[in-house]
Amino acid sequence: MLDSLLARIHQKHRTMTFPDGPPPELPERFMGRPVITATDCLSGCSRCVEICPTQAITQAAGLSLDIGACLFCGECARICPSRRIHFTKHYGMAVRKRDALLIGHAQKFQQAVALDQKMRRLFARSLKLRQVSAGGCSACEADTNVLGTVGWDLGRFGIQFVASPRHADGLLITGPVTKNMHVALMKTYEAVPEPKIVIAVGACAISGGPYRDHEEIHNGTCDLLPVDLLIPGCPPHPLTILDGLLRLIGRIETTLRLIPSDNLGSSAST
Ligand code: SF4
Repeated sequence: MLDSLLARIHQKHRTMTFPDGPPPELPERFMGRPVITATDCLSGCSRCVEICPTQAITQAAGLSLDIGACLFCGECARICPSRRIHFTKHYGMAVRKRDALLIGHAQKFQQAVALDQKMRRLFARSLKLRQVSAGGCSACEADTNVLGTVGWDLGRFGIQFVASPRHADGLLITGPVTKNMHVALMKTYEAVPEPKIVIAVGACAISGGPYRDHEEIHNGTCDLLPVDLLIPGCPPHPLTILDGLLRLIGRIETTLRLIPSDNLGSSAST
C-alpha cells in the first residue's frame, strides 16, 4: 500500500488534461487533415490520381480528395509537382455526414457537431459502446483501445466499452465489413436498444479502405447502417477518435484547435 502511494506521488497525475488543456504532442510524422490549394494543376497532370491506392482522389469537377477513403500514405502530396495537396497537423477530422469527408479547395470542412438535445440528454454523461471489428486489421482497434489507458482515460467522460450489445447505447465499428462479419454486425446492431448510435472508425469502416470493391467485403458501414459519426484515418490517431467522440456528445463545441506546428495559419480554422 505504502509502495503504491509512493509510486503515485513519484509519478504524479498521468492523465492528460485534454480537452480542457492542450492536446498531447503529436509525433513528427503525424499526418492530419489534408488541404488542397487553389492553384492550378499542371496541364494534363494526374499523377496524384494514378498513385493513390484507394482511388480517393478525383479530378472530374476540380481536384477532390475523399478522406473517408484516404490511407494517409502521403504519396499524393509527395508526387504533386504543383504542391496542391498537403497534410496539416489538424487531428480533428470526424464528421457527421459521409459527404463532409470530400475535400476540395473551396469548401469549408464541416467538423462533427453534437447529437440533438434529446440524444445528448441520454448520452452526454454516459455512453456505453459495443465495439465490433468487422474484419479489421486491428490497427483501428488498437488505437481505440489506447483510449482506455491511464494517459487518455476515456472513462472520465462517461464513455465506456461494454461486452454485450444489450448493455450498449451504440456501436463503434472498425473494419470493412467482410461478408463473414455481415450477419454478426447486423445482429449486434439489432440487439442494441433504441435509441442508438453508430460510429464508423477508420477508412475501412467508412469506405472499405484498401479493400474497396473487393467481392468479399461490403465497402464499410455507410450503406448498411445509419452512421452518426465518421472518424477517418488508417488508423485514426487516438486523439482524432477522442476528439470525434467528445464532439458527438457535445463535450467539445469550440472550433478546431490549431497546433503550433501547423503551417496553415488561421485560414484553416473552421
Ligand atoms: S495520402 Fe490518401 S489520397 Fe493521397 S495517395 Fe495516399 S491514400 Fe491516396
